Amino acid sequence: EEFKTSVKPTWCPGCGDFGVMNALGRAVASLGIPGHEVVVVSGIGCSGKISQHFGAYGIHTLHGRVLPTATAVKVANRSLTVIAAGGDGDGYGIGVGHLVHAARRNVDITYVVMDNHIYGLTTGQTSPTSDPGMATKTHPRGAFEEPVHPLALAIVSGATFVAQGFSGDVNGLARILAEAIRHPGFALVNVFSPCVTFNKVNTYAWYRESLTSVDGDPDYDPSDRMAALSRIEATRGLVTGILYRSRRPTFESQLPGLGEKPLAVLPAGLSGEDLEDLLAEFE
Ligand code: SF4
Repeated sequence: EEFKTSVKPTWCPGCGDFGVMNALGRAVASLGIPGHEVVVVSGIGCSGKISQHFGAYGIHTLHGRVLPTATAVKVANRSLTVIAAGGDGDGYGIGVGHLVHAARRNVDITYVVMDNHIYGLTTGQTSPTSDPGMATKTHPRGAFEEPVHPLALAIVSGATFVAQGFSGDVNGLARILAEAIRHPGFALVNVFSPCVTFNKVNTYAWYRESLTSVDGDPDYDPSDRMAALSRIEATRGLVTGILYRSRRPTFESQLPGLGEKPLAVLPAGLSGEDLEDLLAEFE
């Protein structure tokens, strides 16, 4: 509740992104982090609207540029909880190079990808995670390219926390997101977030039938990188829970300078004129 704004989301009724936003709110609230210490950096696509609707600071940035922007925020003020958010088109298409570099750098941010296997905002084109065979506006006879495999890509790129959730299970997703935010390092949480309007294949019902989970599996060890990759392969990626986690120093902890205090701190109670003056300094 605390993290909802008065702006009504323009997502289609039933869109999975509602579940992601609710789960994120619950996760942040469960950790007791106040809204003014949270920044949501989002990309372009239906998912990108989350930065406008979540009751924290928000930056709606350029297509595919979520992770460089979120990295800059974290480096400039390490006391902030930085949530990067976007969709599969934004993050695994134009932005996929940034995923590799953010993962290997181990920047302490949580990257939530609302993966609906389609471009929703532009009304239904094949995305980097579309399943082969799915008919879309750009592939009316069915997509035929091998999809991107985000969990495996993040693990082999050096991410220290890799998980997957489903927006049809808000409680489970909230628990995963809370762990991801608590994790000191780069965390990818890929979320199956159905596009109810343009993807009639990967529906809530389809996921409920198809998904497996590592949660509650006593034989599953998330610190075992090869086991994580094997489970992802064996389930064709249709697995939820915390697949992998490990620890190593974060990017920002190894940078010289800037660690003690934020790059800039604005005094409380600034007027509009004060802000105009500050902005003028950057012109
Ligand atoms: Fe959600 Fe799809 Fe509607 Fe976009 S088009 S708001 S992804 S249901």
